[in-house]
Amino acid sequence: MQFEDLGLDKRLIKTMEHWGFDAPTDIQAAAIPVISAGKDLLASSKTGSGKTLAFLLPALQRVIRAKAFSRRDPRVVILAPTRELAKQVYGELRKLVAGTQYKAVLILGGENFNDQAKEFRKDPMFVVATPGRLADHLEHRHLNLDGLEMLILDEADRMLDLGFEPQLKAINAAAGHRRRQTLMFSATLDHQQVNDIAADMLNEPKRVAIGYVNEEHKDIEQRFYLCDHLDHKQALLDRVMDEEKYQQMMVFTATRADTDRLAKVFVEHGIKAVALSGDMSQSARNRIMNEFERGLHKVLVTTDVASRGLDISNVSHVVNFDMPKHAEEYVHRIGRTGRAGNKGTAISFVGPKDWNSFKNTEGFLDKTMTFATFEGLVGKFKGLAPKRKKTFAKKPTQEKKTRKPAAKKAAPKQRDKSFYKTVAVGEDVFMVKKKKPAAEE
Ligand code: ADP
Ligand code: MG
Repeated sequence: MQFEDLGLDKRLIKTMEHWGFDAPTDIQAAAIPVISAGKDLLASSKTGSGKTLAFLLPALQRVIRAKAFSRRDPRVVILAPTRELAKQVYGELRKLVAGTQYKAVLILGGENFNDQAKEFRKDPMFVVATPGRLADHLEHRHLNLDGLEMLILDEADRMLDLGFEPQLKAINAAAGHRRRQTLMFSATLDHQQVNDIAADMLNEPKRVAIGYVNEEHKDIEQRFYLCDHLDHKQALLDRVMDEEKYQQMMVFTATRADTDRLAKVFVEHGIKAVALSGDMSQSARNRIMNEFERGLHKVLVTTDVASRGLDISNVSHVVNFDMPKHAEEYVHRIGRTGRAGNKGTAISFVGPKDWNSFKNTEGFLDKTMTFATFEGLVGKFKGLAPKRKKTFAKKPTQEKKTRKPAAKKAAPKQRDKSFYKTVAVGEDVFMVKKKKPAAEE
């Protein structure tokens, strides 16, 4: 498949050539025709597989080809869960519209509200935003979405996790034009809340899923290390610093306090490192991301604020100092490496407190993980025994004993596979598939 085969505007094809992209990625090849046909879409594919252009190219195509409903209202709104990701999507869009008359604005929380209100008065065609701030502007009537043609939700599941459902609904209600299109993208869309909001916001959506969500990401080597306690994790991290050959590294921790602490440890080792967390000022966040992208720091220590979507080509290693609570976040965190065909390494520390999250991740990925060791750093912790139900009151019958665990084990597997099936474009009806497994729980 070539970009030419997707019916894209010549200018866009030229731009892809100019960027050195020979062919569309699988998700681009599958999603672009569906979007160009005017359909609503729920699309998932692994991290780093080019989802951004899978929605930006057809969005731009639409703006180029179709007549606007309104001369003043934005034509395309793109929402992302974090400021960093919104900024990156905006950067990509800006490169695409460079030299055209199509104006794009970036609307983020933490930046000057009045300056943003002025931006809306210039009638931008594209708005890239975080949902909270855009909803605020709608409330203040700084923009009108009657003429909106496309609403795009990048990392939709994460926006819901962060509690943005009311804002998404408000934006959806304000953009209630009957002819608009709605698209949702993520690597992980198997989420009851996504279902619900999709049922609410999408109109007979097509479903494009490339690969299974639990399919192994071949470009990412995953290693897990057991550890006894915090000092042990620290010693493992020291070893990673010394022994791993990395270009740039992202280290994820559970708490904001630990981001600072660990960044300092790297610095004490003479390694340029910096901490990023959601409670920093927006200007500090911008500066840090910018410096990290430019390679001024070798290591970024952060929380899940940076787990989603960020595309930094030199990140060769991801370290989970703590396992993420939700298995989906594991997939997204390690997906900061191994992007666009590059190789990456993901290293995770699993202590007693991480054990449940680790088991959830194993379940989610449908794979039994083995543990690696560093010489001289093998601890005592070997994992926790699975929690047993107390059955002493009544001795279970033989039949029950064999049947119950088997049924339990099979459930998550079924759920993932039935949902994340690779479907041919045009084939459909995801809602039937999704409602069923949810009822099992
Ligand atoms: P995702 O959203 O699926 O995680 P991104 O959209 O961030 O992935 O893209 C990952 C990387 O792949 C980016 O650096 C992007 O520029 C690059 N990329 C996108 N499309 C192509 C393509 N057709 N050919 C080569 N590289 C691509
Ligand atoms: Mg993305």
